[in-house]
Order: sequence, then C-alpha cells, then structure tokens
Amino acid sequence: MKVPFLNLKAAYASLQSELDAAAQRVMASGSFILGAEVSAFEEEFSDYCGTKFCIGVGNGLDAIYLILRAFDIGPGDEVIVPANTYIATWLAVSYAGATPVPVEPDVATFNLDPASIEAAITPRTRAIIPVHLYGQPADMDPINEIAKRYGLKVIEDAAQAHGARYKGRRVGGLGDAAAFSFYPGKNLGALGDAGAVVTDDKQIRDRLEALRNYGSQIKYEHEIKGFNSRLDELQAAFLSVKLRKLEDWNQRRKEVANQYLKGLAGIPNLKLPFVPLHTDPTWHLFVVRHSDRERLQKHLADHGVGTLIHYPRPPHLQGAYAESIQAAGSLVISEQLAAEVLSLPIGPHISTEEVDYVIDVIKSFATDSSKANCAQGESANLP
Ligand SMILES: *Cc1c(COP(=O)(O)O)cnc(C)c1O
Repeated sequence: MKVPFLNLKAAYASLQSELDAAAQRVMASGSFILGAEVSAFEEEFSDYCGTKFCIGVGNGLDAIYLILRAFDIGPGDEVIVPANTYIATWLAVSYAGATPVPVEPDVATFNLDPASIEAAITPRTRAIIPVHLYGQPADMDPINEIAKRYGLKVIEDAAQAHGARYKGRRVGGLGDAAAFSFYPGKNLGALGDAGAVVTDDKQIRDRLEALRNYGSQIKYEHEIKGFNSRLDELQAAFLSVKLRKLEDWNQRRKEVANQYLKGLAGIPNLKLPFVPLHTDPTWHLFVVRHSDRERLQKHLADHGVGTLIHYPRPPHLQGAYAESIQAAGSLVISEQLAAEVLSLPIGPHISTEEVDYVIDVIKSFATDSSKANCAQGESANLP
C-alpha cells in the first residue's frame, strides 16, 4: 500500500463541479481583483471566525506583516515569537523592520509557554505572536493577561488552525488581530497563494484595506506607503466553495487523529500529541516524537508511507538568521523538538484502512527496534 502525506487531488475531485463552476463564473465576470467574490468570502470567513471583519490578502506571510504595519510596529521594536514555528512568523517581523524575540514552547503542547514570555519582555516589546501550531490553539488566556499587563498587542498566527477552538471560542477572535494562510495544504486551502486577516478592530480593518492596496482606499490617493497584497477573485471564489466543507473536513481529521491516538498508544519511545482539556484542535498536522526519528521515517518511507518534518531546523539556526544572537544550544526545547518530531499522513481524504496501515508499519518498526535493542543487549553480555 502507498499512503501519501497529503492527497490534494482528492480534495479537488470531491468538489470538482463546484470549483469548476466558480472558476467559470469569475472568468466570465471580467472582474479579477477586489470585486464581489472577495467581499463575499471576507464576510463568510469573518462570520465563521466570529469576528467583525476580514480582509483578504495575498498570503499568510503578508497577513502577519501587514498586521504589524497596521499597528505601526517597526524599526526599534521587538516582537515575541515562538522559537519553534515556521520561519514565516519570524520573517514577517523582520520585514516590518522589528526584531523577532524567540520564546520556547511548552514541550507537551508544542505551543508558546506563557510561563517563559515575561522574561523575554523588554521596554521595546510591542507585541506577542502566538502560533496555533499544528492546529492546536495556544494557551491564549495567560498570553492575553500578560499582554494586557504590559500594553502589548496579541497577533494570532492562525495559519495552521482554521476553525480550532479555545475554551469554546474560535481562533482568529482571541487576540487583537489574526493572520490566516490559505496555502493549498492548509485546512482551508486555495488553489494557489492566498491569505486573510480577521479582527474586531475597525481602525485596523481600515488600515489593512489601504495597506494591501498601495496605501489607497480612494483610487489614486495614497495616505500611507502601502503594499500590493490582495486576495484575488478566483481564489476567493474557490475559498467560498471550500469553506462550506471546512467543518466536515476538520471533523474527518479529528476522526483520523483519534484513530492514531488509539492505535499508537503505548509504543515504546513514541510520544503522541497531547490535547489540553480546554482546546479543540483541527489537526492540521499529526506530529509524533521519536528518539530515533530518522530511522522511523526511513522505515515508513520503505513501506510506502509519506511523512514530513515540521520543522527540521528552527529559525534561529537558519542562515537567514545567522546574524541573530541566538546560538545553537540556546533554545534547547525547540532544538530537541526539531530532532524528534515527525508528521504522519493526515487529511480529510485519507481512509481508515490507510491509517490502520500506517499504524501497523509503525508497530512493525517498534517490534524490529526492540529486537535490535535486545540483540545488542545480548551481545553486550558476551565476553
Ligand atoms: C503556512 C504558514 C504561514 C505562511 O503562510 P503563506 O500563505 O505560505 O505565506 C505562516 N505561519 C505559519 C505557522 C504557517 O504554517
């Protein structure tokens, strides 16, 4: 059996007639940028997130960057980011001219550890960007409490968590503004690049509508030095079709996650994801930890199972941040996670049989390696 990491062709096939019709409608309309499709999707997505406003932008990186610009965060400012996130979170801060200040995760949840945030705050700190990593909401109450005490903005990076809930409330409405990515592999994915910001703050909405469009809300009047980062009509039309499926597809991911959690329980050296009581994650990724990750990944690949590593090297050890003061060994939790994490196949279209197969392959690795350990133990006893 072959199990791909993610099957995007199946996602298209299951919605083909609606997606094709949406494409035809936009192509025939003659309107391609900031038209009726974008407005309609913005309204649907803000309703879904439970926020007042949604502003469609070009991608998830731009969404974070433009929120920072909207809050006038830039040169001389510091922004707290998770040490173990996708590099986009850091790059958005760098592009704004501010400095990303990494904070280690809680090793059980992979998310920003509120207990470590205060030590990273300085007089220059302006904002905290919690990332709802792998679809698991960050612990927002203590984060918001710290932010309030120090007068900081809270910007959610919700690129991996469309629809996830924290204490019953959806991500996107848990801070001052939130960034979403609709990169094709995300839980809500476009058929190309796309992103959005959601917020309850009308001033930020107005700023973002200008920032994404050359700093202009009235044609050819430019009050601020804006950017070009617009959600296009075609992607908005696709996203409206796919948004109607998001709840079903997230539900299916949850079933897959539960199947893994049950099937993989009790395997030596394999750590399963932990779900805090007050959260309802959307399982963008199903990430296990293993002390012999490289061999486990190879064993899965040898048996036709596609896996990925999110992420093999944390941002502070990337060439892009070589000038940063964070040396190897300075963020030990993130570095250890990078060495141990492995993302198993998950998505709305993986079958129960495929998940059972992945579980069996992992179990066969566990048996093989315990035999190997045993053999080693025996040979160690030889004279
Ligand atoms: C995907 C992702 C982004 C960036 O989104 P793009 O649309 O690819 O720019 C940002 N943050 C996180 C956590 C992501 O997973």
